[in-house]
Amino acid sequence: MATVTVLITGASGFIAAHVVRELLERGYAVRGTVRGNPSERRYAVLRTLPGASERLSLRQIELLDQAAWPSVVRGCDAVIHTASPYRLDVTEPERELIEPAVSGTRNVLEAAIGAGVRRVVFTSSLVAVTDEPVPGKVFTESDWNERSSATRNPYYASKAAAERAAWDLAAHAGEDFRLVSINPAFVIGPSIGPALNTSTAVVRDLLAGAAPALVDLNWLVTDVRDVALAHVAAMELSAAKGRYLCAGESVSMVDMARILREEGLADGYQLPRLRLTGRFGTALARVFARTRPPGTRSYLDTHLGRTLRADGSRVTRELGVGYRPVRETLRDTVADLERWGHLRKT
Ligand code: NAP
Repeated sequence: MATVTVLITGASGFIAAHVVRELLERGYAVRGTVRGNPSERRYAVLRTLPGASERLSLRQIELLDQAAWPSVVRGCDAVIHTASPYRLDVTEPERELIEPAVSGTRNVLEAAIGAGVRRVVFTSSLVAVTDEPVPGKVFTESDWNERSSATRNPYYASKAAAERAAWDLAAHAGEDFRLVSINPAFVIGPSIGPALNTSTAVVRDLLAGAAPALVDLNWLVTDVRDVALAHVAAMELSAAKGRYLCAGESVSMVDMARILREEGLADGYQLPRLRLTGRFGTALARVFARTRPPGTRSYLDTHLGRTLRADGSRVTRELGVGYRPVRETLRDTVADLERWGHLRKT
């Protein structure tokens, strides 16, 4: 049987590298796109993955390079589009986040449809589902973020607009075209490469004592390995359809600090003990938020003191992907931050 070739965009990214590993393990030929020169050292780790020497090739391309995408996609059987800028703080949101996310998605999908690819998995996000926690509400796949903008949670705006662009294109791509979006929440876990991801940086900052106190924020912690499995299952299962929230256990910052201490993972670090929670604490934290750069401020303004809830069960029911316990994910995240030198004990 001919080897199935999968194109994965942003192959060196935190989530994508795990997808690449999983695809290689299952015997696929993988064509990965990277932004820099494929011979750069930062991509070397991808070539060490089992099966990479026989079945991984890397192509250099920028999301906005519309003319070049058709030749990159040609000959692939499926596309997994993960590449998108993931940063909260930018000075020019339209240019740095929204334009590459949306036009990049259009470029990749148009090229895929034009090349006759019939299976596309798109990495969206829970932030395309909601801009903020809403008290009492459990978000599902039928919710859409309609509030974010270039000035309010611009990263969120970029993901919501990119996902909409993907569905708009899919709607005109013919009956047999299958788009699936995976919408992960807060993804952490071990990293295949040395780069520090925006979400794992939260754990690093917490242990490094970057903030003076624990505040009332919470995350739906999702392990990067489970997110990768969801992508591959979405590609492989012909019944997979529509959006899949990938949202693990709800963990507050106070819970996270407690688990880190209980597991002995905080020893030698400056994990804060002071709590700015409850009504008074959150009011103080809001004042502190005003000193942060605009992207972080916007996130804190919309999330402090509220609990985010989402139903991530569809991914388990229909794609057969479960969620690793948060303790395991935190253990592996910290070990990995230490391994790559992002965290050093004092
Ligand atoms: P990441 O490590 O920063 O990966 C993003 C990838 O996109 C990188 O390979 C990056 O290349 C590439 N990229 C960004 N802008 C590009 C451009 N203009 N042209 C070409 N490539 C570009 O972050 P990640 O967490 O793995 O994110 C992967 C996807 O998951 C993103 O779509 C993100 O929105 C989504 N997501 C992430 C989380 C999370 O908690 N991590 C949660 C939900 C959804 P460079 O390395 O060259 O910058």
